[in-house]
Amino acid sequence: MKKYDYLIVGSGLFGITFAYLANKARKKCLVIDKRSHLGGNIYCEDDDGIHVHKYGAHIFHTSNKEVWDFVNSFVPFNRYTNSPVANYKGKLYNLPFNMNTFYEMWGVTSPKEAEAKIAEQKAEAVKALGDREPQNLEEQALSLVGRDIYEKLIKGYTEKQWGRKCTELPAFIIKRLPVRLTFDNNYFNDSYQGIPIGGYNRLIEGLLEGIETKTDADFFADRETYVNLAEKIVFTGKIDEFYEFKFGKLEYRTVRFETEKINVQNFQGNAVINYTEEEVPYTRIIEHKHFEPENPAWGKDVTVISREYSTEWKDGMESFYPVNDEKNSELYKKYKALADSEENVIFGGRLAEYKYYDMDDVIARVFEITKIILKGKCSK
Ligand code: UDP
Repeated sequence: MKKYDYLIVGSGLFGITFAYLANKARKKCLVIDKRSHLGGNIYCEDDDGIHVHKYGAHIFHTSNKEVWDFVNSFVPFNRYTNSPVANYKGKLYNLPFNMNTFYEMWGVTSPKEAEAKIAEQKAEAVKALGDREPQNLEEQALSLVGRDIYEKLIKGYTEKQWGRKCTELPAFIIKRLPVRLTFDNNYFNDSYQGIPIGGYNRLIEGLLEGIETKTDADFFADRETYVNLAEKIVFTGKIDEFYEFKFGKLEYRTVRFETEKINVQNFQGNAVINYTEEEVPYTRIIEHKHFEPENPAWGKDVTVISREYSTEWKDGMESFYPVNDEKNSELYKKYKALADSEENVIFGGRLAEYKYYDMDDVIARVFEITKIILKGKCSK
């Protein structure tokens, strides 16, 4: 008999949701993380009472009521609604693309006028496409919203974010951006949306209550010892690293945050301002206090902002966005085949599944897995 039922490698949302549910099913768990704090990328740093999203803005949104009720059972969420604004050469446009954006872009005031303008703007691209599907992000954007919006609000931002030309990027990236003929600046289409009141660390603490954890613990530095501690492993780190990069390294984009504390009450009037022109080196500025207007720290004459610079991942950097192009997807498939044959290891989360994952989908996936394995219906 080993000391633990599950060793959970990585304390991000996947790992800690798994730990919570396993613990409830009376399984003995140990959660380890190589960082000096728990919670993975949802962890927030407290600065003068402001909860700073240290690893990038995390806005919880879902249409899954079970997931929404689950997270709210640990900490109530506020009613924050994400309504980012784009700054293109000093002019502001509402996002996602909606009647406000079309008014700002072309002065059109009715859905009918907006529709006619979009049709005119995309006519050339639609004609060039004919019957075929858009082959890349540029074709997708031009045939969805036309030239003006593509050039002012999409091209520069996307090329900065991905470090690749829009003609070399897959079309699906832009498909998640809604286009609306209503005056609705809500970025997400989901039924529920918000930020934990008191910050994400309350969610982390709630999920991990009563569970053994260890920080500054690098699985790979002492792999054998860790493996021998538990019957099964839940691995949420990088799948290629788990297999010692035997087929090669998966690529990622990473984000460098330049965080600054400023002595003003309100710096930019919104949590998220995207800088969509190529010439500004960062993609966006996050002003953290706007996520929690109910926080008493909101009223103070101090604020914390983070400029986000998107760069190619290199060894030693944090891995943020998987690059799901053809080359990397093929490579991932090879690792996935190995992972599927493991008896005692469960792979989950953004890094282990090499997948762009929203937080609600991570939790839903853990629900799915634990429903099977914690009832003992499957060997894993
Ligand atoms: N995007 C864009 N302009 C913007 C915001 C987003 O062109 O002002 C595009 C860009 O290609 C980006 C994609 O939409 O990669 C998805 O952006 P989103 O903000 O939804 O994703 P995030 O990076 O925040 O997860």
